[in-house]
Amino acid sequence: MVEEAQLLGILKEYFGYDSFRPLQKKIVDAVFAGKDNLVIMPTGGGKSICYQLPAVLLPGVTLVVSPLIALMKDQVDGLTANGIPAAFLNSTQTETEQQEIFSKLQTNELKLLYVAPESLQYIDAVFSSGNISLIAVDEAHCISSWGHDFRPAYTQLGYLKNRFPSTPMIALTATADKATRKDICEQLNIPYAKKHIASFDRKNLSLEVRPGTKKFGQILSFLNQRPNESGIIYCLSRKNTEDLAVKLQNAGFNAAAYHAGIAHNERTSIQENFINDKTEIICATIAFGMGIDKSNVRWVIHYNLPKNLEGYYQEIGRAGRDGLPSSTLLFHSYADVVQLQKFAGNSGNAEVQLAKLDRMKQYSEALSCRRKILLSYFGELISEDCGNCDVCMNPPEFFDGTVIAQKALSTIYRLKGQEPVSVVIDVLRGSQNAVILEKGYQHVKTYGIANDISWRDWQQYIIQLINLGYVEIAFHDQNKLQLTAIAKNVLFENEKVRLADVNLAEVQKEVVEKE
Ligand code: ADP
Ligand code: ZN
Repeated sequence: MVEEAQLLGILKEYFGYDSFRPLQKKIVDAVFAGKDNLVIMPTGGGKSICYQLPAVLLPGVTLVVSPLIALMKDQVDGLTANGIPAAFLNSTQTETEQQEIFSKLQTNELKLLYVAPESLQYIDAVFSSGNISLIAVDEAHCISSWGHDFRPAYTQLGYLKNRFPSTPMIALTATADKATRKDICEQLNIPYAKKHIASFDRKNLSLEVRPGTKKFGQILSFLNQRPNESGIIYCLSRKNTEDLAVKLQNAGFNAAAYHAGIAHNERTSIQENFINDKTEIICATIAFGMGIDKSNVRWVIHYNLPKNLEGYYQEIGRAGRDGLPSSTLLFHSYADVVQLQKFAGNSGNAEVQLAKLDRMKQYSEALSCRRKILLSYFGELISEDCGNCDVCMNPPEFFDGTVIAQKALSTIYRLKGQEPVSVVIDVLRGSQNAVILEKGYQHVKTYGIANDISWRDWQQYIIQLINLGYVEIAFHDQNKLQLTAIAKNVLFENEKVRLADVNLAEVQKEVVEKE
């Protein structure tokens, strides 16, 4: 372990910071203790320090696998400017340039070496010419086909741990749900990696979902309440973005459209105008936002339903980076669901995509705190409702659903987390269908324990239990229902569960749909 004072000294001297951000110190300590680590931290959270600071102090070189060749040069320039000797290796270099790096490695002149995953073939040359102290895998979610940005070259990285078993590894990413995290560690051969998961909670973002009827009128009144504030409206299609921008311009707003079909130069200038506050409103497809650093985006509207909660959370996360209160509004419509189902059904990974879309739909229809749902989706279980979402501000009628919850959770427990929602409900209701009888589930202790509740109501209650964080869906394993760590509070410690009255909520929904 390295003394705290020495770490703080390096932090100040080489990086110019006075203190560590939450988690950074723990991660750095774990690296010095020689452990393998998985770091999940939102973009801008400060992941780089977690391997760059150890790199300065460790005796050999830190190898950094990074997918973006274009960004390597910037990173290396930044480090060099701070007095940290660094270099990168990739296919754009000449042999002479590469030889120069190898000889620097031999004389131990480099602290960090960035390599693209495609350049792994050089690794043995790197190793034989120097001493690797630490291996960092940036954007580690790229290794998993369950993540959202799969890069085939990443799948070869499992080799690194086999080749250098005693060199500590640190994998870093900003987005990975629970199953993807597990997949990352398995593929990198670091199944026992210490997991450091930063909070994804963005308390300053208010969350609101409204039915997608008369959307333009709703947008106008939303904007009129927020004069001169900048924001983004995400649409599903390019045509939508253009139509909406024109309508807003005609209504006197300073709006522009942005999508991947617009010429590169023009796109750059649209972005710059937005960043410099010359354009107030951008109507965009999801192509907009990556790498855009604008701290005072005050609101984000989703004109259409996003494909999944990962995308949704990333997009609303572009609001309020300065920490000031910011609003998000999502329009939910059945037409969008149908269209997205078609897309998902035709995609390579249809089963997972459809399950994720289903989760998105459940979020939009939810009767429990929306932040709780979002955070539990990313594996973060909060006990208090947030008070800053539309459900919290305008709660449905709740009743004491503890017994209902106990019945469902104990059934899921007895089915050993091996069955999807339909089988769980069939067991609860004592159904005699073939699957149940074949598997002998009529002998499960909770079989038929709740046949007084209709199938549809059960479905609603279980969705609520998922939204409350007690149950999760194994998307990557036939959508089996499984208990989370907090389920035991309900099963064994008599924690009370408030459920929303399904039938009352139905009535409210019908009223809304008729409008
Ligand atoms: P990530 O890779 O997680 O997106 P970065 O490592 O690029 O994040 O850091 C994001 C920003 O936070 C950078 O501008 C960086 O200078 C700043 N930062 C990181 N750590 C600290 C710290 N301990 N104190 C102050 N600023 C920090
Ligand atoms: Zn809430």
